[in-house]
Amino acid sequence: MAKIKYRFDPHTLTYQKVNKSINRKLRQGLIYFGVTIVAAVVFNIIFTKYYNTPKEHTLKSENEELVFKYKMLSDKLDEVERKLNNIEQRDDNLYRPIFEMEPIPSQVREAGFGGTNRYDELRKYSNSEVMISTTKKLDKVENELYIQSKSFDSVIKEARNKEKMIARIPAIQPISLKDYGRISDYYGRRRDPFTGKIRMHHGMDFTGPIGTDIYATGKGVIEGAGYSAYGYGKEVLINHGYGFKTVYAHLHQIDVEKGDTVSRGEVIGALGNSGRSTGPHLHYEVRKNGRPVNPFYYYFDDISAEQYDKMIAAAEENRRPMD
Ligand SMILES: [Zn+2]
Repeated sequence: MAKIKYRFDPHTLTYQKVNKSINRKLRQGLIYFGVTIVAAVVFNIIFTKYYNTPKEHTLKSENEELVFKYKMLSDKLDEVERKLNNIEQRDDNLYRPIFEMEPIPSQVREAGFGGTNRYDELRKYSNSEVMISTTKKLDKVENELYIQSKSFDSVIKEARNKEKMIARIPAIQPISLKDYGRISDYYGRRRDPFTGKIRMHHGMDFTGPIGTDIYATGKGVIEGAGYSAYGYGKEVLINHGYGFKTVYAHLHQIDVEKGDTVSRGEVIGALGNSGRSTGPHLHYEVRKNGRPVNPFYYYFDDISAEQYDKMIAAAEENRRPMD
């Protein structure tokens, strides 16, 4: 039922029925409507400022959980970084030195990414700090892993190369000292058994019965097998590669031919007394980059440190030059 309004007329002293015009009614309706809207908006602003809607509440707790997970991720990255640093330390101080490789400079290992605006994209977020620091850590670990894997690649390559080299460089004595052989002269200056003059002896001499087996001291290719023009009698020359060659002189018999490939420990001939020699013996030389070196340093496969010291002590006392 519509409400009927009355107005007091002072002239007639009576109440007159009020007849509102359509326009006026409409205007009033609009005002009410406007006020209601404004009130609703104001109320909503106040409410959302101090109270969360259920949706906001969910988002807020999700956000908190994400930040928490970011922090956990960051802690885990610290742990990964520590473990990685441990591997890097071992790489620089153990693996690389074994193969005579220089350590990787820390500025290469720790290299960051260029450009300060790399992380700008993340700055717009309210939790940008934890996001940026975690992303930075992740980038750093990724870079370090890359450098480390490259280093391991080169260590493996060196190891394979060294394996070949280790098989090739002279590493045993050319005659079995257990059964027959005995060292009779060492590398160095001493009196020549023929002329009596002080002269350099470029190898080591081993005495033993004629026909005693003589071994190749490392893998290699026979570069010479025949009679020497320089007083070495029947001699064998092995090229081991990596700058190493070995000479076996005064042989009685040669069992290999030029071009043959021999392995360490393979019999190449027999001990003899050919050439400029005062008695049955083997003259053994190791040459590195064309120069004779002390064969002493190339017995590491079959001589212990103790035996080695004894040999050095005996070197000066019991020399019997046979050339
Ligand atoms: Zn000699």
